[in-house]
Amino acid sequence: MAASKTTTPPPVEPAKCPTCKGSGEISRAVHVGRKRRPVGQQTGICLTCLGSGEATD
Ligand SMILES: [Zn+2]
Repeated sequence: MAASKTTTPPPVEPAKCPTCKGSGEISRAVHVGRKRRPVGQQTGICLTCLGSGEATD
């Protein structure tokens, strides 16, 4: 085995969270009242990745 190729492993890229697309934040509609009236959008932490933006196994 004289010619041994040095194979460098590909860099491990963390999978992006499918929920927030890797941003770690998601915008959700805010509803208030008993009729759940939408009052706007609020940006919150992504509960899937807990803000890291990386998909977890
Ligand atoms: Zn996420």
